[in-house]
Amino acid sequence: MMKKSDILSKVLGLRFGYNMEELKRFVTDSVRWDKEQWEVYHNKLISDVVIHAYKHVPYYHDLFDNNGINPHSIKSENDLQNIPVTRKKDILNNPQSFMADNANTFHPMKHHTGGTTGRPMFYYNDRKSWALNWALKMYTFEQAGFHFGVDKLAVMAGGSLIPGKSSGMKHKVWRWVNNYYTMPISHLSPQVMDEYIDGLIKNKIQFLRGYPSAVSSFAEYIVYSNRFVPLKAVFTTAEMLYPHQRAIIKVAFGCDTWDTYGCGDGMGQAVDCKTHDKMHVFEQVSIMQIVNNKGYEVMPGEEGEVVLTSLYDYAMPFIRYAPGDYALKGIGACSCECTSKTINKIIGRTSDVFRFSNGRIVNGLSFPIEELTDEVKRFQIVQVESDVVEVLLEEKSTLSKERIEKLKRIVGYHCGEGVNVVVKVVDRIEVPTSEKFRYVVSRV
Ligand SMILES: [Zn+2]
Repeated sequence: MMKKSDILSKVLGLRFGYNMEELKRFVTDSVRWDKEQWEVYHNKLISDVVIHAYKHVPYYHDLFDNNGINPHSIKSENDLQNIPVTRKKDILNNPQSFMADNANTFHPMKHHTGGTTGRPMFYYNDRKSWALNWALKMYTFEQAGFHFGVDKLAVMAGGSLIPGKSSGMKHKVWRWVNNYYTMPISHLSPQVMDEYIDGLIKNKIQFLRGYPSAVSSFAEYIVYSNRFVPLKAVFTTAEMLYPHQRAIIKVAFGCDTWDTYGCGDGMGQAVDCKTHDKMHVFEQVSIMQIVNNKGYEVMPGEEGEVVLTSLYDYAMPFIRYAPGDYALKGIGACSCECTSKTINKIIGRTSDVFRFSNGRIVNGLSFPIEELTDEVKRFQIVQVESDVVEVLLEEKSTLSKERIEKLKRIVGYHCGEGVNVVVKVVDRIEVPTSEKFRYVVSRV
């Protein structure tokens, strides 16, 4: 009989049309490349995708012409700095202008940005880009001792307990092949967390993945109830991981946290080094630049905005794209064998956790707002009083009464009894100029 790990490789191979084993070998080799090997690899891919974008993508054609940029002059990472930065709002204003006129030839897969950005957006990834991204993901997990299809992974996820949302066959198969044990974060009451603790122990689970705010709430509960759940590794994603969260996770589970940064729109990926004092950027699939407000790379040790150039996305190219994240640029080479660029940490994408008098701890990331991607420009969820939650929406198109009622029901279901949910459609969600946009805010 085939092992689950072989099935996973086959499934991924069929899904993406690439040999996953080969891609994994490529990843394993490339982490040790020297500077010259990286340059040769990057220069060719940068040049190819820039010329393609100029020829086939209306937005980039106009951007280059309007700024007097000859696409043939962009031949290296350094040259990329001459291209103005493109933002999410540019894409949301005119998504069609970002699609290549020959997009179908790249068999793109449609995705949307997660709930963490406050501004949902559809985008496309080429199959090759996504497959390589998966190979990088597998490599990362293996670094922490986790093997796909062999080890079990508990996932502290959002949205999967949404009433009326059926769990499709495809997802069930995916969970089985991946050995996922899901721990929805929408109802983190003491009773639910007790069940999760029992579930982890009974199922002999040694790896946990989730949002820092959710995993650290769980860890706090374990520590304060005088228990210990030994794990081999915790993976965090999608939000900023604070040092105090890393510390409490270590106490509760006795293991290190592998913080990961992933951004499908632009294919940015960075992962904790095994030394856990910085993150390595995966430059195989995307170029990550940390830039100042003029678009130029900051000095090592300085903070700047993340700007991505995806190397294998041709259906919808991302060239010098800023997803809205900030990072501290790393200083010097890493003490490990990896030669890729480093960042010291990702700053931003923080969210608050709501605590209600009914005992529930609700993670803002569990609200299924991405369902409204077509209708909502931007959203914010605010706990205004101990048992009052406001959902602010900037509409794209007018939301029907039924839609708003449904949203109110879903958010109410997550918050539990006794919590009053108010949905407000507003012209503009006010953001204090000194702060980054936060999609989940507790004022309590
Ligand atoms: Zn390292």
